[in-house]
Amino acid sequence: MKIIGATCFKLRIPFVEAFGHSASVRSCSDSVVVRLTADDGTVGYGEGLPRPYVTGETVETCVSHIAHCLWPAIADSDFQALEPGPDAVRTLDPVGRTLPDGDADDVVTWHAARAACELALLDVLLRRQTLSLGDLLRSRRAAVTYSGVITGGSIDNAVRLARVCVEYGLQAVKIKIDGEDACDRVAAVREAVGSSVSLRVDANCAYTPDEAVSTLAALAPYDIACAEQPIPRGDPAVLANVRSRSPIPIMADESLVSPDDAEALIAAKACDFFNLRVSKCGGLARTLEIARMADRAGLHLQLGCQVGESAILSAAGRHVAAHLDRVSFVEGSYGSMLLVEDVSEEPVAFGRGGNAPLLRGPGLGVDVREGALHVHAETTTALGEG
Ligand SMILES: [Mg+2]
Repeated sequence: MKIIGATCFKLRIPFVEAFGHSASVRSCSDSVVVRLTADDGTVGYGEGLPRPYVTGETVETCVSHIAHCLWPAIADSDFQALEPGPDAVRTLDPVGRTLPDGDADDVVTWHAARAACELALLDVLLRRQTLSLGDLLRSRRAAVTYSGVITGGSIDNAVRLARVCVEYGLQAVKIKIDGEDACDRVAAVREAVGSSVSLRVDANCAYTPDEAVSTLAALAPYDIACAEQPIPRGDPAVLANVRSRSPIPIMADESLVSPDDAEALIAAKACDFFNLRVSKCGGLARTLEIARMADRAGLHLQLGCQVGESAILSAAGRHVAAHLDRVSFVEGSYGSMLLVEDVSEEPVAFGRGGNAPLLRGPGLGVDVREGALHVHAETTTALGEG
């Protein structure tokens, strides 16, 4: 099979409510959706969310990388049918090998661009074979349970959102923290949600190592399951030192982008959890590769998301969350709870209790509405026959 055309949509879907944390305040999705067209007319969609503070990519450089590096490789390739088997990483490997990593001098890695193209390729290949991604990533569970996330901002607003989470029956909630009010914020949220809800915190690189240790010590009485990325990405030995002094288990997020990062974090004993995100980790194959490394090292997993993911990445995340042998927390699938309009025919947002069904439809399992892409696209870039 040949891919004869691609279109990159630079999407800016407004949020229902702005979402903030220590590295960014965001009021729209800022994603890149790639549509690929095969020589028989089959169409598939993928998505990546470039974030300068995660992979170093911007929306603009991501589209440029797709146009100049990934698209020529895709257009040159002849794709064979996917062969579902017991080893999902092996099944995905031929698709991944068609996507060059490119020159990463100016970025951490081009993983959002890679994820968008890998997912679009898988969607088009699976649809052509009338297969679901679930046929490749066999599910280990009957449904996926999501947790809530409380954005930064005033403590009053955090408490309001915490009450919404409780009313929705969520059993796990993550709180964005930064600065010096972390303790008051977490105390207020703990009081609002009660003792039975699992709480965890995410600092998005906000602290120095010493600040992180003192902040986490102060948060320990509030029964915090883990603390995500308390310090900036850097030498894993520094994170390991924070971990050795922290009463709360540590989760690596911005420090964990690639399999090389995973290897270094494991070797340094830098964390207790990995936060996987399909866009950050460069698509499904690398996400699952990192998950395997975590399993072998005895680390726990969260399947997280980028803020602003549409139904396309939500669907990919649903399949990964269902497939992982062990997953402690799952985030994402916020759909129209976050976006004023999602791009799929069928809503993907989770329901009460955070529960969401498996997706069984062809490809990634969601049908994308082209009209929604055109309404929310800031620019579209046609490659090949578009
Ligand atoms: Mg995080």
